[in-house]
Amino acid sequence: NADAAMYEAKARGRKRIGFYGRETGLRIERHLELDMALRGALERREIWVAYQPIVDAHSGEVVKAEALLRWTHPSLGAVRPDEFIAIAEENGSILDLGIWVLQEACNLSREFKARSGRSLKVSVNVSAAQFKDSDLPRIVDRALRRAGITPEELELEMTESVLVSHAEAVNERIDGVKQLGISLALDDFGTGYSSLSYLTRFPFDTLKIDRAFVSRLPDHLPSLELTKAIVAMAKSLNLKVVAEGVEDELQADTLRSMGCEHLQGYLFGRPVDRDTFLDSCCATTG
Ligand code: C2E
Ligand code: MG
Ligand code: MG
Ligand code: MG
Repeated sequence: NADAAMYEAKARGRKRIGFYGRETGLRIERHLELDMALRGALERREIWVAYQPIVDAHSGEVVKAEALLRWTHPSLGAVRPDEFIAIAEENGSILDLGIWVLQEACNLSREFKARSGRSLKVSVNVSAAQFKDSDLPRIVDRALRRAGITPEELELEMTESVLVSHAEAVNERIDGVKQLGISLALDDFGTGYSSLSYLTRFPFDTLKIDRAFVSRLPDHLPSLELTKAIVAMAKSLNLKVVAEGVEDELQADTLRSMGCEHLQGYLFGRPVDRDTFLDSCCATTG
């Protein structure tokens, strides 16, 4: 049973402490604990989705919302997505989490329209394992239908690492989801592998400039020049650009003057739970 398994794994974790040293031992123990806890976390309703607005750089209107998974563990508190998503990718639970967050996000878009009369595109992060799954197009199609939203109201975000490691299988899946009519964003652009050829080899609609550059605007010259070049290149390739991690007005002004059309960051709104998002975003212009 689950308790016995947990006990055994913990005992194993502890034994390793003597073997690896204290810090590594604690890391392994936390990893084991999160690994096991994550498997039932959805059913226990510990997982929820936060939504962060993406605004039009000129009008300030909310044009999109990014769905971001959150996990509130009963004793450990909030576990950061960077930590638990890596574990979910390892133990396979990312597939269930991925299906769930996709449906939640589509449902939010429908609810937004019902309340405000305006359409809201939702953007959902998709892991490599999901792109390797031949069911992905069917899963996406079902989420759209169940929510009753149009394909234009959904975007999938992927990082370059997905393209690097599984280019073959991923190619097929990308075509599959694109055929549904949804759009595709390349996330965290500028970090990682950044092969410019990806931009023309895959049918992206949106390019998201990584916060690492945005946060250093405008004083850090290399970031400034690089951001300028990315925005210009995106425009010539007919891609929409979103700047991630915009925290102050100076950054926003800089990006606006470069012609970056969409902005995302704490300056415009932090990721918040569904009800808070709907209350604040439907109220302001709705
Ligand atoms: P990401 O997709 O690049 O998401 C943007 C991250 O930047 C989010 O971190 C967001 O909270 C944070 N952020 C946004 N604006 C600002 C800002 O102005 N300042 C700062 N300091 N941070 C800002 P978060 O929510 O911790 O998520 C981290 C990563 O976890 C995401 O990066 C994404 O790669 C992954 N992730 C989150 N939800 C999902 C999901 O449903 N599926 C998958 N596969 N990955 C997810
Ligand atoms: Mg993202
Ligand atoms: Mg990103
Ligand atoms: Mg990221």
